[in-house]
Amino acid sequence: MAEEKKLSKEAALLEAANCLKCYKPPCQEDCPAGIDIPRFIYKIKTGDFKGAKRVLYEKNLFAATCAAVCPVEELCQENCNKGQVSRAVSIGQLQAYAVEMGGEIEFPEEEKTKNPRKIAVIGAGPAGMTGAYRLARAGHQVDVFEAQKGPGGTPFWGIPPWRLSRETLEREIKEIEKQLHSIKYNTRIGEDIQVEDLLNEYDAVLVSCGLGEGSALRIKGADLEGTVDAVTFLRAHNTDENGVPSPEGKIVLIIGGGNTAMDAAMAAKEAGAERSIVVYRRSWEEMPAWKAEIQKAQERGVEFMLQTAPVEILGEKKLEAIKLVPTRLVPEEGRRPRPVPIEGKEFDFPAGMVITALGQLENPLLEKLEGREKVFFAGDAAGGDATVVQAVAEGKEAAGKIMAYFQEAKGRGV
Ligand SMILES: Cc1cc2nc3c(=O)[nH]c(=O)nc-3n(C[C@H](O)[C@H](O)[C@H](O)COP(=O)(O)OP(=O)(O)OC[C@H]3O[C@@H](n4cnc5c(N)ncnc54)[C@H](O)[C@@H]3O)c2cc1C
Ligand code: SF4
Repeated sequence: MAEEKKLSKEAALLEAANCLKCYKPPCQEDCPAGIDIPRFIYKIKTGDFKGAKRVLYEKNLFAATCAAVCPVEELCQENCNKGQVSRAVSIGQLQAYAVEMGGEIEFPEEEKTKNPRKIAVIGAGPAGMTGAYRLARAGHQVDVFEAQKGPGGTPFWGIPPWRLSRETLEREIKEIEKQLHSIKYNTRIGEDIQVEDLLNEYDAVLVSCGLGEGSALRIKGADLEGTVDAVTFLRAHNTDENGVPSPEGKIVLIIGGGNTAMDAAMAAKEAGAERSIVVYRRSWEEMPAWKAEIQKAQERGVEFMLQTAPVEILGEKKLEAIKLVPTRLVPEEGRRPRPVPIEGKEFDFPAGMVITALGQLENPLLEKLEGREKVFFAGDAAGGDATVVQAVAEGKEAAGKIMAYFQEAKGRGV
């Protein structure tokens, strides 16, 4: 989204006029945050840009962030009724227009609870910050604990700045921070503060700590210098942290076919890689990355080597090449086809850097908190759908569950 051309006023009004204002709008049903899409588009159509922005923020405190990073083709725009007669309404672009042109918006004070409770929120990503805001606005005392030195979670370190401006993200977070009792950075729960201490001190705990580190590649040579996982690579690249070798002037191979692989491949190219090549063991059809992401990667010069699997990373101390093998796909009942290496067809390919994008491990904090009383989960930590908008939706839902839990406890006289 961020890279798409911004709409002019005339173009926004024309695009808004395309919306059919459907009776049962599939766009709204497909939006995890439940934004009243026809209403915000109608407000644009009638020139009420502030009103349009208010409709967006009523349901999604990260409306500007989501305007930049939401996979609209997979969500609200996918089943847009207008698409059946011509093309789907550009909901994402209209959202971006409304958040930019809507100016400052304020929300009326909410009724505060007469029985405020203390809540700890673990993680200052979209899920945690959304849940924290909802609880604080209802009058509860909310303390957020964040392991990193700043807020934003994965959108801050993972999503490249050319897709999501840090200014946009920071502006939205600042508004949320104002509502909180406290937010403590550089504080990792389970290490700096023990889980038991947190449970003793707080009436409820919202666990929104996201996922853990990147999964490692389990082949010979995977520990050679020059191999790095995508999470570590992107964090270093997007936050200017040191300690990761530069891709500049190198042939970089990215192992994996998800969105993180696309981001890492584009980031490597941006950082001056001679070639940035995604190696994926299945075909285009099975590739899990969003179509728009694949297209962007291609436009940025990323190359693809499909139906190819890594066998061994070659080198003495430092990687010099990678042994690869072509695969054939064997159909599997009700599942994606299984890639099977074609024996005897292995070949060596020169490489100066290998980035593994094989998903992230579960956050180790989860096993300490799962099944505990007064503990609630949201976002990627809860096995969410791995999107910002889904994390927002789950943060909001978890806040609702926590308040219902307090009501129920009050009923029991606790
Ligand atoms: C490379 C990449 C690109 C992506 N691109 C997109 C995209 O374009 N669009 C999209 O919608 N989604 C995208 N996503 C997914 C999206 O970023 C996540 O789904 C979303 O951020 C999940 O939000 P969350 O709040 O659950 O977790 P996170 O955003 O991961 O936040 C969790 C926070 O908890 C903190 N934390 C972890 N452990 C502890 C602890 N023990 N104590 C204290 N704090 C802790 C972390 O430091 C982090 O700040 C992308 C993800 C990646 C990895
Ligand atoms: S489905 Fe498309 S046409 Fe219908 S309300 Fe939503 S955006 Fe408008």
